[in-house]
Amino acid sequence: MALVIESAATVGIPSSIGSSGRPRSGETVHFNGGPLVRLAHTTCRAQVRSMHSYHRSRGWAGIGYHLLICHHGVVLTGRGIRKIGAHAPGANSTHVGIQFMLGGSQTPTAKQLAAFVELLAWLAARGVRTSITGHRDWNSTDCPGEPLYARVRSGDWGGGGESPAPPAFEYWEVGDLKVPTGDPALYRGMTGTPVRRLQEALATWRPGILPEYGADGRFGGETEEAVREFQRVRGISRDGVYGTESAGELRRALTEADPAPVPPPRPPEDPDPAPAPPPDWLEEAIMSLPTLRQGATGPAVGKLQALLAAAGYPPANSFNGRGEPDGRFGAGTAVALGRFQVARRVRNSVTGGRGDQIAGRHTWEALIRD
Ligand SMILES: [Zn+2]
Ligand SMILES: [Zn+2]
Repeated sequence: MALVIESAATVGIPSSIGSSGRPRSGETVHFNGGPLVRLAHTTCRAQVRSMHSYHRSRGWAGIGYHLLICHHGVVLTGRGIRKIGAHAPGANSTHVGIQFMLGGSQTPTAKQLAAFVELLAWLAARGVRTSITGHRDWNSTDCPGEPLYARVRSGDWGGGGESPAPPAFEYWEVGDLKVPTGDPALYRGMTGTPVRRLQEALATWRPGILPEYGADGRFGGETEEAVREFQRVRGISRDGVYGTESAGELRRALTEADPAPVPPPRPPEDPDPAPAPPPDWLEEAIMSLPTLRQGATGPAVGKLQALLAAAGYPPANSFNGRGEPDGRFGAGTAVALGRFQVARRVRNSVTGGRGDQIAGRHTWEALIRD
């Protein structure tokens, strides 16, 4: 396997961090402490960028490690070997600080260990002695964790495990949306389906919140800002990271009575004549009704079911023997609602288009006028 060393520019951190130096007495091995989610390599880079920000927030010039090795067996440049490190007091100017990107109960992958062995040769060719120490040889710390420190003691850097399959992302179904549960967290630099689903959910919560890139599956600056904005509105910590707290709030925001869904502007080419505006009393009544989606329960759902039945679209499996609605927004109610919306050409309040099976203000208005 050829050794791959990514530059600071590729990783996305500054290419000059800290003072010039020339550590050449040996290597000091570290781990991350907390476990690192193992996903596509773009995420490894994002993890290094977040370590860089974290170290800066502690008043350092930036990331303290000289080099890092991810579970893919790629070496990512931190400060690089022409700088004094900030990884272990007493060793910073003499030893190359190398972080194995793992923590908790994670053990190094075979690729990670193979890359480390090749990196030792690469360093030796640049005048760095092969003399491996662990962070705990210098300071009072658990770092680099027992599995790695056992290797420091034995000098055995062979073996290692497979990189486990990426963790499965789980979702809550909210109407047509699949809302990521926030475990694993989503944050800047990540890409793929979980990110796209988060973006779709955010754009449903507030249409237009991703004006430039939309739901493109890339967690960039625009998505980070959107998450921050959501966190601000919901009064939770504004870190721009979509974790379990943000996920719970987003699910709640999309499920519960929607305080102010901004309806998308009516497209000009829409051939339907604009309905007459509702009288004030009706407007007021409609605004006080919650937005309901599949999964909702309670008296408002019962009212929705009764109105659908009265309009000629009785929800299946939703009424007891006495003809009373059960107040549970299940599949039968969703199907009946969708049919009603399409037949009456009801504009969707939340998602744009028609027939979204969500009872928002336009649906309520159509049902009450009916
Ligand atoms: Zn350490
Ligand atoms: Zn990687």
